[in-house]
Amino acid sequence: MNFNKCCRCGCFFVSENAVCPNCEQKDLIEMGRLKNYIEENVSGSDFYNMNNVISCTGITANNLNRFLAQSQFADFASHIEKGNLD
Ligand SMILES: [Zn+2]
Repeated sequence: MNFNKCCRCGCFFVSENAVCPNCEQKDLIEMGRLKNYIEENVSGSDFYNMNNVISCTGITANNLNRFLAQSQFADFASHIEKGNLD
């Protein structure tokens, strides 16, 4: 059995996922929010500031980075300005 450490709450759990079952639901809600944000605000080849996305969606930088690494957000991620983070 493989133990993973949850990216959100830090608890240990048995799964291949990045987050524990408790946090999976929160992930899904936030990914939904991110998708809405993209649908409503993103068009064409504009570049987006990470901090704007964070303040508009309420998703933390850590979680946002994790979502953007997923293939479903790859297109959007390529339009994010990565400067000035931390
Ligand atoms: Zn968790």
